[in-house]
Amino acid sequence: MIIEVRAVPPFDKNGFVLGCERTREAVIVDPGDEVGELIGAVRDFELDVRYILLTHAHLDHITGVGTAKETYDAPVYLHKDDLFLYDGLVQQGAMFGFKVQPAPPVDVFYDGSPIYFGDYEVRVHHTPGHCPGGVCLQVGTKGTRGNDLFVGDTLFAGSIGRSDLPGGNHDVLMQSITRVLFPLGDEAIVHPGHGPDTTIKRERTTNPFVLDYLAR
Ligand SMILES: [Zn+2]
Ligand SMILES: [Zn+2]
Repeated sequence: MIIEVRAVPPFDKNGFVLGCERTREAVIVDPGDEVGELIGAVRDFELDVRYILLTHAHLDHITGVGTAKETYDAPVYLHKDDLFLYDGLVQQGAMFGFKVQPAPPVDVFYDGSPIYFGDYEVRVHHTPGHCPGGVCLQVGTKGTRGNDLFVGDTLFAGSIGRSDLPGGNHDVLMQSITRVLFPLGDEAIVHPGHGPDTTIKRERTTNPFVLDYLAR
């Protein structure tokens, strides 16, 4: 699978292009301020973007949705429990002192069914706690257990998502991490919304927040 990641200041939030080497079909995950760089990657790899998939609807993960949708005319997917954040994009911007345009309407709410691009399959797991509608996108070859996890701000290398924003809940977050993400397999590669990749095994065995929680 082609995995291209881009991030720009001030949020340094990771946006991803995932592409099928054979068919060139692709998805964009969490287009934010780096959307121009993502569009450049799509062009460089000669990909055909079919879907815009969001891990959640915080400001930094959705400021590029409008441009991505205008460019590719692809449907936007979100978990319905984050619609209040998505619809509140302009207010989220104001909170951080940014002027942002409203995002285009959500086209599809995740309903548990897989999403396909080329030879690949995206399975969607609801992982609330950082926000109510957070999801993990598990991506792999069709019919196999996906080994690449796009977890948004639920889990980071050596850290976890904050739970003090509207709709956040620390206990719910820890349950999502330990009961939804960990069973996806020690070998799975975690691609967080900020910072470097990690693995489930590494976070399960060394993440101080996880160890704290499991020791309670
Ligand atoms: Zn977030
Ligand atoms: Zn974020």
